[in-house]
Order: sequence, then C-alpha cells, then structure tokens
Amino acid sequence: MTSTRSLIVITGPSGVGKGSLVKMLLERNKKVWLSVSATTREPRDHEVDEEDYYFLKVDRFKELIQKNGFLEWAEFAGNFYGTPRAQIDQKISEGRLVLLEIELEGARQVRKSFPNSLHIFLAPPSFEELEKRIRGRGTDSAVSINRRLNRAKEELLAQKEFDAVVINDELEVALKNIEKLMGL
Ligand code: ADP
Ligand code: 5GP
Repeated sequence: MTSTRSLIVITGPSGVGKGSLVKMLLERNKKVWLSVSATTREPRDHEVDEEDYYFLKVDRFKELIQKNGFLEWAEFAGNFYGTPRAQIDQKISEGRLVLLEIELEGARQVRKSFPNSLHIFLAPPSFEELEKRIRGRGTDSAVSINRRLNRAKEELLAQKEFDAVVINDELEVALKNIEKLMGL
C-alpha cells in the first residue's frame, strides 16, 4: 500500500504545458519515474508507441478495464486514457517518485484510492494564453481543440480540489515550483 507522497499527480487543461514541464522534470531528476499511459487516440506525428503512450484499439482498452488492468481511467475529448496498474507499486518500493500526468476524472479516482498522493494542478496565466498555446502547438484538429477548450473551463473550476496550484507562465519558474512541492 502506498503511504507516502511517492505518488504524484499532475493535472491541468490541455495545452497548459504539462508535457513540456514533465519532460524537463524527468531530464533533471532521475528519481522521478513517469507512468506511460494507455490511450485509444491516434498517435501524433512525433509520438512513439510504448514511449509516449501505449496506443490501443478501443476493444483492447475495454478488455483491460474488465481485467482491472488500470489504476484509473477516463474518457477525454472522445478517447479513452488510463494508467496501467503494473509497475506502479514496484517503482514506489524501489524508492522512485511515481508521476502520473492525467486529467481531472482520473485524478479524482487516484485521490480516492491513494489519499496520500500529492495532487498538483497546472494552470495557465490566462484562458487566452491557453488557447494560444493549444492552437500554436498545431497537433489537434479544430474539433479536438474546441472539445479541449470546453473541457478546460470545467477543469479550471476544479483547481481548489488540488493540494497545490502552479501557474505555468515562465517554464523555469513553474518547474522549480513543482520540484519544490515534490521535495526535489
Ligand atoms: P499539454 O501537455 O499540457 O497539453 P504542452 O506541453 O504540449 O501542453 O504545451 C502546449 C504548447 O505550449 C506547446 O507548444 C509548448 O511548447 C507551449 N508551452 C508550454 N509551456 C509554455 C510556457 N511556459 N510559455 C509559453 N509556451 C509554453
Ligand atoms: P493528450 O491527448 O493531449 O495527450 O491528453 C489528453 C488528456 O488526457 C490530458 O489532460 C492528459 O493529462 C490526460 N491523460 C493522459 N494519460 C492519462 C491517463 O492515463 N489517465 C487519465 N485519466 N488521463 C490521462
């Protein structure tokens, strides 16, 4: 059973900069282990199967739900996403800080199963800046961007459920704040 804050959840609206910050965090801190999620969405151009995500067909994803293969899972902007259960306990017992980069519904499930997990909400400096970033990234269709921005409004309202809110204005400042919260 996980009893310390070795399990860290980072949540925030699509386009806020989670991926960018997590990448920098991992490069700088070898103690941190990022859980690779499963998803049914199509890979983006640069994404590699089993590195960025386990890209699964919907049937396979549903089969894994039935087999209790996910620590948590949720539907987001028309696709399924989930954290594979395997490896998490092992990594924690090895002394790693296990990081989950997941959306709000999944974060709520983790809070229930692991009350001691540390939950960080990553917020944009403004909604306008969020929209600029998600469009500027150029990876999503217009339909997907609209779904993501609509969902962002709900997610931003849930900030108070989190242990800490970090605003991603300057990347380096946000990263230092996250490291401090994680005791790094
Ligand atoms: P997420 O993983 O939360 O969806 P990304 O990490 O993909 O977000 O970032 C979305 C876009 O915003 C990317 O183009 C990224 O380079 C840019 N970005 C991230 N953080 C910042 C920041 N602090 N200032 C300006 N642009 C940023
Ligand atoms: P994207 O399609 O931009 O990679 O991710 C969309 C959303 O799904 C992001 O908010 C991301 O944090 C979330 N996500 C990624 N993996 C998981 C997961 O395993 N579980 C849950 N619940 N959300 C996830």
